[in-house]
Amino acid sequence: MTAERTDVLIVGAGPAGLSAALELKRLGVPRVTVVDREPQPGGMPRLCHHTGFGVWDFHRMLSGPQYARRYVRLAEAAGVEIRTETTVTGWADDHALTLTSPAGTGVLQSDAILLATGVRERPRSARLTPGYRPRGVFTTGSLQRFVDERHLPVGKRAVIVGAEEVSLSAFMTLTGAGLEVAAIVTELPRHQMNYFPYAPVKWLLVDMLHRVPVLTAARVERILGRFRVEGVEVSPVAGGERRVIPCDTVVFTGDWIPEHEVARSGELRMDAGTRGPQVDFAFRTSRAGIFAAGNLLRGAETAATSAAEGRRAAGWIARFLQGAPWPKVRLPVVAEPPIKWVFPNALSADTLRGEQPLTFRTADFVENAVVQVSQGNDVLYRQSFRYLTPNRTFRLDAAWLPRVALRGEPVRIRVA
Ligand SMILES: Cc1cc2nc3c(=O)[nH]c(=O)nc-3n(C[C@H](O)[C@H](O)[C@H](O)COP(=O)(O)OP(=O)(O)OC[C@H]3O[C@@H](n4cnc5c(N)ncnc54)[C@H](O)[C@@H]3O)c2cc1C
Repeated sequence: MTAERTDVLIVGAGPAGLSAALELKRLGVPRVTVVDREPQPGGMPRLCHHTGFGVWDFHRMLSGPQYARRYVRLAEAAGVEIRTETTVTGWADDHALTLTSPAGTGVLQSDAILLATGVRERPRSARLTPGYRPRGVFTTGSLQRFVDERHLPVGKRAVIVGAEEVSLSAFMTLTGAGLEVAAIVTELPRHQMNYFPYAPVKWLLVDMLHRVPVLTAARVERILGRFRVEGVEVSPVAGGERRVIPCDTVVFTGDWIPEHEVARSGELRMDAGTRGPQVDFAFRTSRAGIFAAGNLLRGAETAATSAAEGRRAAGWIARFLQGAPWPKVRLPVVAEPPIKWVFPNALSADTLRGEQPLTFRTADFVENAVVQVSQGNDVLYRQSFRYLTPNRTFRLDAAWLPRVALRGEPVRIRVA
């Protein structure tokens, strides 16, 4: 099979992939090809028919599809080649990916590759929730595909599992489709939806919290119903009496896993915390010429954050194309519980100036936390936080970076 060639191959036509492609064209890269397995480009926002997109990158409030269309139009106008219905199935060699599309299979070779394949929510099966497999069980993503893409009827009364920002998205889709939301259930002691950055959605949150009971420190123990969901059995995490909430729809929200199949099959080093490929500040993975950006790196941030990462990654890709050397030494940055992940999770010599903060998330609520950065026995830095909240991203100042010994022990981030 003869391989086609391009200068930069981007896998994933979501905000990260498309904004990277735009920036690469702006920087003068002649051939930029973006491939996506979906029939239309635009990534996840294409399916989120509610508002909440575009404030940071387009300075206006857009629905997901409007936001996706803007990026697609800009990329097409800039001369980016976008191939849809094209799935990357593996690696032909270090810089060539195998593709499958309705036109057949092929190999696309490239000087640099950017993986921007996004995330998915863990479905019910992966969460091991007991019960039969009746109709009416969704993730937010599959719900939105069902309602907004296929225009199929869902049900009448729903329970949302999870109480983070994406749970609001599920709420908007369900109520928009005419369903009553019977309850929101989270295993954590408080809901985590109060940080949504956009004012109109904040009002929606206030309205929702008035109308819908949020059951905290509670777990969905079982889904009832054989052919169609008939209810869920919920119990307190600490133990106690189970109660049944009648409903015909259950939506599992959040609990993200990066779409890391291409990264894994390329044997890129993965990070235990993010479960995405390990990258440094320059979005460089463990393999020369292979970059990664967007939600593939670590569960779900906003579309604007993913797009900004795509743009920054493009700058580093352009430098690489112009001959910048790939770092020989990479030092891992390790998150220790309750810190769930830290980004970036590798350090290399040319990005140790400490201009950009690191970001991290925790698994638990922690009050009056001191987050400590250490290497071996040396404490490099301590930063205080009044509250750490799960499913919310925090910034860790990076002034300590120049003091890291790159050939030393891994840097550890923990709550002291
Ligand atoms: C339900 C929901 C609601 C949201 N609401 C908001 C909101 O209101 N505001 C906001 O700012 N953000 C919101 N977000 C987050 C936002 O959608 C993401 O931050 C953003 O889409 C991430 O961009 P990305 O490019 O990293 O990944 P994605 O947008 O997920 O794009 C990844 C692309 O890669 C493709 N792909 C994956 N694997 C392959 C493969 N092997 N071959 C070819 N193509 C592949 C996929 O088809 C997909 O199109 C929401 C997310 C969800 C799930």
